[in-house]
Amino acid sequence: MPAPYVYRFGSQRTDGAAAMKNLLGGKGANLAEMCRLAIPVPPGFTISTEACTAYTQQGRDALLAMIDAEVREGVAAVEAEMGKRFGNAADPLLLSVRSGARASMPGMMDTILNLGLNDEAVAGLAARSGNERFAWDSYRRFIQMYGDVVMGLKPTSKEEHDPFEVVIDALKTQRGVKLDTELDAADLQQLVQRFKSLIHSRLGRDFPTDPWEQLWGAVLAVFESWNNERARVYRELNDIPESWGTAVNVQAMVFGNLGDSSATGVAFTRDAGTGEDLFNGEFLVNAQGEDVVAGIRTPQQITLEGSRRWAELALVGEDERRATYPSLEELMPGLYQELLAAETTLENHFHDMQDLEFTIQEGKLWMLQTRNGKRTGAAMVRIAMEMLAQGMIDERTALLRVTPDRLNDLLHPVFDTQALKDAVPIARGLPASPGAATGQIVFHADEAEAWSKGEKGSGKAVILVRQETSPEDLRGMSVAQGILTARGGMTSHAAVVARGMGKCCVSGAGAVHVDPKARTMTVGSVTWHEGDWISLNGSTGEVFDGRIATKDAELSGDFGKLMALADRYKRLDVRANADTPTDATVARRLGATGIGLCRTEHMFFQGERIQAVREMILADDEAGRRRALAKLLPMQRGDFEGLFRAMDGLPVTIRLLDPPLHEFVPHDDAGQQAMAQQMRVPVAKIKRRVEELHEFNPMLGHRGCRLGITYPEITEMQARAVFEAALNVQAEGLKPFPEVMIPLVGSVREFNPQAAIVRKTAEAVFAERGAKVHYLVGTMIETPRAALVADSIGSQAEFFSFGTNDLTQMTMGFSRDDAGSFLPEYVKKGIYEQDPFRSIDQKGVGQLVELAAQKGRSVRPDIELGVCGEHGGDPASIGFFHKAGLDYVSCSPFRVPIARLAAAQAAVG
Ligand code: PEP
Ligand code: MG
Repeated sequence: MPAPYVYRFGSQRTDGAAAMKNLLGGKGANLAEMCRLAIPVPPGFTISTEACTAYTQQGRDALLAMIDAEVREGVAAVEAEMGKRFGNAADPLLLSVRSGARASMPGMMDTILNLGLNDEAVAGLAARSGNERFAWDSYRRFIQMYGDVVMGLKPTSKEEHDPFEVVIDALKTQRGVKLDTELDAADLQQLVQRFKSLIHSRLGRDFPTDPWEQLWGAVLAVFESWNNERARVYRELNDIPESWGTAVNVQAMVFGNLGDSSATGVAFTRDAGTGEDLFNGEFLVNAQGEDVVAGIRTPQQITLEGSRRWAELALVGEDERRATYPSLEELMPGLYQELLAAETTLENHFHDMQDLEFTIQEGKLWMLQTRNGKRTGAAMVRIAMEMLAQGMIDERTALLRVTPDRLNDLLHPVFDTQALKDAVPIARGLPASPGAATGQIVFHADEAEAWSKGEKGSGKAVILVRQETSPEDLRGMSVAQGILTARGGMTSHAAVVARGMGKCCVSGAGAVHVDPKARTMTVGSVTWHEGDWISLNGSTGEVFDGRIATKDAELSGDFGKLMALADRYKRLDVRANADTPTDATVARRLGATGIGLCRTEHMFFQGERIQAVREMILADDEAGRRRALAKLLPMQRGDFEGLFRAMDGLPVTIRLLDPPLHEFVPHDDAGQQAMAQQMRVPVAKIKRRVEELHEFNPMLGHRGCRLGITYPEITEMQARAVFEAALNVQAEGLKPFPEVMIPLVGSVREFNPQAAIVRKTAEAVFAERGAKVHYLVGTMIETPRAALVADSIGSQAEFFSFGTNDLTQMTMGFSRDDAGSFLPEYVKKGIYEQDPFRSIDQKGVGQLVELAAQKGRSVRPDIELGVCGEHGGDPASIGFFHKAGLDYVSCSPFRVPIARLAAAQAAVG
């Protein structure tokens, strides 16, 4: 027997379970699990992701031959449970057909509802439901979705947006009405006729009337939609492999639009924005699911508490709230209790915050979906820590619940309270995704991309302002600072996607009138144009005129608890790459336990120093260079003192000068003229020196310890600055701990003379001052040769710090500065799975790290091993460094919390 492709679920028989996500997709697996928990779910079946793969590889006919019999059996089972027949005109069973991949991809793939309707069945539905308007509305929705998704009737111009909506608008104008809901059964019947003619005239085919033809068309279209443009973009942004495929869920339709005892909604077992342990969500009476998501009508809140909070934000008085926007808790108390019981069961069962969809059909509750809810970084942290405190999950799970990169959301800036005082709020919407954003208005997603990329500006900060967003807007949303929509609730597309991206979003700001054609946004009598500045507070829903300064976030509460927990489990230490006392202070506040890399050259560019550096470069002999270096010494010493103070008691790794000297001289005419004037030397001399410094491969040229080998006086000055600074700070009662690092070493014969200068200088300074500090002299491992001979280098060096940027560059033969022109293509084609400069190439470069670590330890068991390349802040790479047995990683200050958590996850994972 070949493996089944169809898995049933319902109150009678359920084949699947939550653990079968790979095969059934998230939605299908959880529908099955809900049935197992005796939660009311409309019966149906899931066609597996293996069928999707078979379809992609073998095509339509082969697939149909494989699944035909099983699908027919599945439909028969649904018929039996619902007591209706598929294709029975008198009382038709209608089906929904939805995609459902392993990972949730909200709104990215296609859905078809009300499948099974045709000209005969619509009459049967009307007779059975006693609601003619409902029957025709269901039919026109079906044709609209099917015409678009399966038959491929697409807009012919940008203005048209949706050809079916154009037809609806024309009829509304003709009938003199504004809202779809004002159209009656006869109007909707008209629409059905017009839709069918539109399909016939545009596509030269008729709308299929045979329910089975409809069903096969829909199933194949969902499989096709796995490869549509927006699904591809989403996969790219979220690292979802193409090979996963989607499952298809075929399920009995239930209706939330059968009158006032019917409703449909979306709920979260905890607050997806803040993480608060509060059941919440939105619903609409007499509506279909997509009405809630599309944000066309203002949804009502499920709980009374939520409703009161909403009214306060929306400036709706209590009387109006109760009369027009009552909560489900008030409106349908019995059903609310049932929903509450279901949400409790589901959260307790999955031990995670659930995102639920439900429909109430004529007083009966049906659950349509449950999944682990997407949430902001802040909610992720709070939910993990509260579930831990509530005993729902253990410490290990709590650590693994937070995606390290999402901590970025919490580290994101908020508005400067001082600046906010003068800010003028112009409108208020829903606090859909927290954070502060300030930028220039654009009205189209493609323009958001162009502006932010600099095609029409120069990397501008933009706020994408839309009536509502759709999956087509994804790229534009991802580059915007923030998103503002005039329509839509907390569960609208914009809100859900923005939260997923950790991006500030205010949705449903009803007072804002958006005119994308005129590129204006109007509130009352005031109009803003494209390019005008506005600011958004995604945590309160406020929209402000103009540009408002932002400041760093607070790092206490649940964040602090999570970090403390991470520190208890992690083995790797986390240091920071910091060149200034300010950076060092930030890093320490974020939990760094030392500086893993101070790039001393960064200090050389500031103010008058660059002049002394240039003097040194221009000097004709050693004496000249020493004169210039003497000017640099006090400045450099001052810098180091600042670092030692900020890192009192913790190691500070100071790297000797690394970049090629030509980086410090101007290459353009005007710059050279100015330098000549400033230094009072002929411009010809400068030009000559710049030419001498020119290199074909500067990254492989005269840089790193090669500078110190040829100009030992540079090393001497830097070492003197380090030790004088350390003694000065020690005299203040603090504990400086310098680690002097020699860059770009490839042989112990390069290391030894440089280390000798450092040690000799230390002894000299100690003798002059009559005091000492503890220090180490070590090296970077950033050339492949250094890794290969790490035992010989390790016999002399007290520590290794892997410079994985250069090590990657030299091992892979990819220029760090030029690889951008081809690497993305490499990754797209799967030649390398990831950009090796972002996440360490474990198979190749990683071997050198392991080898060098092992060789280093073989000659010096207590050798200190760290990483200071960009990879030190990448969670996947941190997992690798943990396994390789290193002692610490070092990363930019704002990645320190991310690295601490990633290190803990590596330890417990
Ligand atoms: C490295 O090469 O990984 C490193 C940290 O040094 P830099 O990036 O300064 O070359
Ligand atoms: Mg380097």
